[in-house]
Amino acid sequence: MTTIRIEHQCPQCGAPANLEETDRLFACPFCRVRSFLLTRDYFRYVLPAKNPADKDLFYFPYWRFKGTLLFSLPSGNDHKFLDVNQCAADLPGMPATLGLRAQAMKLKFLSQELAGRFISPTHSFSDTFTAFQTRFSQTLPKPILYSAHLGESMGLLYSPFYARDRLYDAVLDRPIGNRMLSGSLADNGFKDEKPDWRVNFVPALCPDCGWDLEGQRSALVLHCRNCTSSWYPSGEKLTRVQSDCMEKAEEGLFYLPFWQITCEISDIALKTYGDLVRVANLPRIVDAPVAAREFRFWAPAFKLRAQAFMRLAESFTLTQAQEMLTPALPPERHHAVTLPVEEACESLKVVLAGFLKPRRRIAEMLTRITIHPTHFRLAYLPFREDQHDYIQVQTGQAVNKNLLSLSCHL
Ligand SMILES: [Zn+2]
Ligand SMILES: [Zn+2]
Repeated sequence: MTTIRIEHQCPQCGAPANLEETDRLFACPFCRVRSFLLTRDYFRYVLPAKNPADKDLFYFPYWRFKGTLLFSLPSGNDHKFLDVNQCAADLPGMPATLGLRAQAMKLKFLSQELAGRFISPTHSFSDTFTAFQTRFSQTLPKPILYSAHLGESMGLLYSPFYARDRLYDAVLDRPIGNRMLSGSLADNGFKDEKPDWRVNFVPALCPDCGWDLEGQRSALVLHCRNCTSSWYPSGEKLTRVQSDCMEKAEEGLFYLPFWQITCEISDIALKTYGDLVRVANLPRIVDAPVAAREFRFWAPAFKLRAQAFMRLAESFTLTQAQEMLTPALPPERHHAVTLPVEEACESLKVVLAGFLKPRRRIAEMLTRITIHPTHFRLAYLPFREDQHDYIQVQTGQAVNKNLLSLSCHL
C-alpha cells in the first residue's frame, strides 16, 4: 500500500526528519525531543520542483483521499477502496490528477517560507468527494440506499507549474502539451494568496501534569501514565478523552481500541439497549434495568479493511459491552488508536443499516433517519492471541493478525 513520505526538520534542533503521512508522534533521533503533529483541519503537502531556480512557480491544488467508500444496497453493504487525487481548481490544460506521483517522491509540508504562488482551491473537498462516489458507484447494482466513506487520509497536495512559451510541469521540468496560458493567472480568475497554514508540532507532554505522553508513532490518542489520562487532537490542541478498559486478570493479552459513540437518532427510537433489541429484532429477553441502559454505537478505533471493520462494528454495537468497562488506560500491549472518531462516525448509518429490521422497509427508513453523534469515549478490549488471529476474550470475535498489520499501511 502506498503512503506519502515527507521531509521535514525537527522543530527543536533542525535535524532532518523523514515522516510518513500516518505519523503523529515524532521522536527526534538527535535531540530526543518528542512532538505531536497537529493541524486545525487537514495536512497540506507540496511536491518538489525539479529545477526551481529562475522560475516563477505557481502551485496548483489537488485533493487527496485514501480510504474506503461504503455503500448500503438493498442486498447488504458493499465497499470500494480508493487511493486518488483530483484537481481542486479549474484551469484548462492542467492535469486532472497527479496519478501516483505524490507517492513516488518525498514531499514537504506547506510552509510560509516556500517561494512561489499558491492557487486556492475552488472546489470543496466534499464536492470533489461526491464526484468520486458517483464515479465509483456506477458499477454497483441500483438503488444505492446510502453511501459514506471511511477515510484513512485526506489532504491537499500542491504541485508546481510554471509558464514560459507554454505551460510547464515543474516536477518533471517538462512542458504539458502545447497549451499557452492566455493572460496571467489573475486574468484567469485565480487567487494566489499564500495559504495561512503550517504544520503544528506540540511537545508530547501531558497538558494536565506535564509528564511525558506515551504513544506509538501513528497514535492519535496519547496516554499519561502519571495522572491516568488520555489525549486526543482537537483542532490545534490536545483534549482529554475518556478511556475505558475491559480488564482481565490473564497475562499476555493484547488490547484493541474501539470508539463508543452516543448519538441522537431521528425517526426511530434507539436510545437504550431495550430499543436496540426491538430495532434489530434480537432474540433476547432483557429485564428492565438492562433494557434502560444507554445505547452506544461501537466501531473499531484502528484502521481495518472495510469488510472486517463493518463486521466488528456491527457485532460490538449489538453486544453493548459498556457495562463490563472500567475507566483505565490500556496495558502496555495494545494497538494504537489510528482511526479518527470523525471517520468512525461516518460509518454509523451503514452499521445501522446492517442490523435494522424489518429489511423490507430499510430503504424508506434509511432516507429519513439522521444520526447526530453527541459524545464519544474509548474502550480497550482484551484479545487472546493464537497463530493467526486475535480473539476477543468475551465475545469470541476474531481479527486476523495479518489483515491487521496490512491495514496499518492503508
Ligand atoms: Zn531534534
Ligand atoms: Zn498527566
